[in-house]
Amino acid sequence: MMRTFMQKAVLGMAFLLTPLSLMAAEFSAENLAQAKALAEKAGKSELAYQLDESLSTEVGPRRVGTPGDKAGIEWAVAKMKALGFDRVWTETVTTPGWERGDISVEAVSPFPQRMVAIALGGSVPTPADGIEAQVVAFPNLDALKAAEAGSLKGKIAYIGYQMKPSIDGADYGVAGKQRYLGSEVAASKGASAVLIRSVGTDNDRIGHTGAQGDKSTIPAAALSIPDADLLESMMKRSDKVTLKINISSRKTADVKTANVIGEVTGTERPEDFVVLGSHLDSWDVGTGAVDDGMGVAITMAAAKHIIDSGKKPKRSIRVILFGAEEIGLYGVKQYYEKHKDKLGNHIIGAEWDSGTRMIHQLRPGVGEKSLAAIKQMAELLKPYGVALHPSNSAKGQSDISVLGKAGMPAINFDSDLTDYFDYHHTENDTMANVPPETMRQASAVYTAFAWLTANSLIDFRK
Ligand SMILES: [Zn+2]
Repeated sequence: MMRTFMQKAVLGMAFLLTPLSLMAAEFSAENLAQAKALAEKAGKSELAYQLDESLSTEVGPRRVGTPGDKAGIEWAVAKMKALGFDRVWTETVTTPGWERGDISVEAVSPFPQRMVAIALGGSVPTPADGIEAQVVAFPNLDALKAAEAGSLKGKIAYIGYQMKPSIDGADYGVAGKQRYLGSEVAASKGASAVLIRSVGTDNDRIGHTGAQGDKSTIPAAALSIPDADLLESMMKRSDKVTLKINISSRKTADVKTANVIGEVTGTERPEDFVVLGSHLDSWDVGTGAVDDGMGVAITMAAAKHIIDSGKKPKRSIRVILFGAEEIGLYGVKQYYEKHKDKLGNHIIGAEWDSGTRMIHQLRPGVGEKSLAAIKQMAELLKPYGVALHPSNSAKGQSDISVLGKAGMPAINFDSDLTDYFDYHHTENDTMANVPPETMRQASAVYTAFAWLTANSLIDFRK
């Protein structure tokens, strides 16, 4: 049946009168088709793997304040320029300084044996001839907190919390706290030093390093997991286990590092941009290929796949390689201070900073109306094994969670973390643990995400 002119007019009026804010935001069919083609190409490309190999071979470990960190910044600037980003720049970041020095830990009595340990970030040194003292063990930080003040005077505190592996790495939140606050809490009970069981899920005889809170005032180190087991076996046999610890780590004057930023400039709203985040710094053990060489490479490759398509998105794409993430998110915090007046131009963001296995789900953190678009994105990513999580409260991983908490919409692309904490912050953070298939899949996902969101004018805050 043909509608009369009047009926058509009324329908048209109704459409016009529907406030824009009530219309579901969706990606256009053309945008979706372009994103699909880009993802297919990225999913077959070895570029991300090659970029990570380049960074971890030509630069290697990039702990803040080391020559490797400076070399990493130079590598990133040169690489972004070579890849054809429209704008590349650095922004200086200032952080506390620290030198790792050397460490030795040995059981002195009743069972003399050497042990493998690694100093925790920011650890102060022991006296030059070390600390030899009896160990008092606690199963976890809460038990240490419950110890009486002054009860550990002249003792070494040991925290034995064992991190449990899982697909979402949820226990890292609990285990990380033992490392972050162990020194501060042990010091408050009078301890001369603190040892923790490494925050990890492997059985390798290597320690897992990592950051501590600002109030760490006594020497602090992580025993390798086999040595944590060994110490506990000794303590089952004797209530007077004595260890000797020598650490020459020390805090130094402030050091400078940088956030490295590369932009693909949009055609219609160049001042608005989608953020692809990762961190360029790493710990000084391993080559930083996993944490976060993978993120650096995946996000740079995503932009490159878009550059190579010859098409420009409507909004810009900003790839931010944050500095000084590992020692306490200094890079993003200083980025936020500098750019908070322009937070509204940060349209949406996603970071890669965890996992070596494939992405298995996406969790949005967007306005209600943009969920329709996120569903379209999830549909597009389904063939890559990515499922849409029903929650809508994601704030972004690591660095960009600072921007997410301040109001920037975000997507968390969650990878399977079951064995990530086997390598995390250890000598085993190398290309040997970077699966090429993950790099391909993640490239497809981040490329599709970047194109879809940048090449639309959807307000993801709504
Ligand atoms: Zn990381």
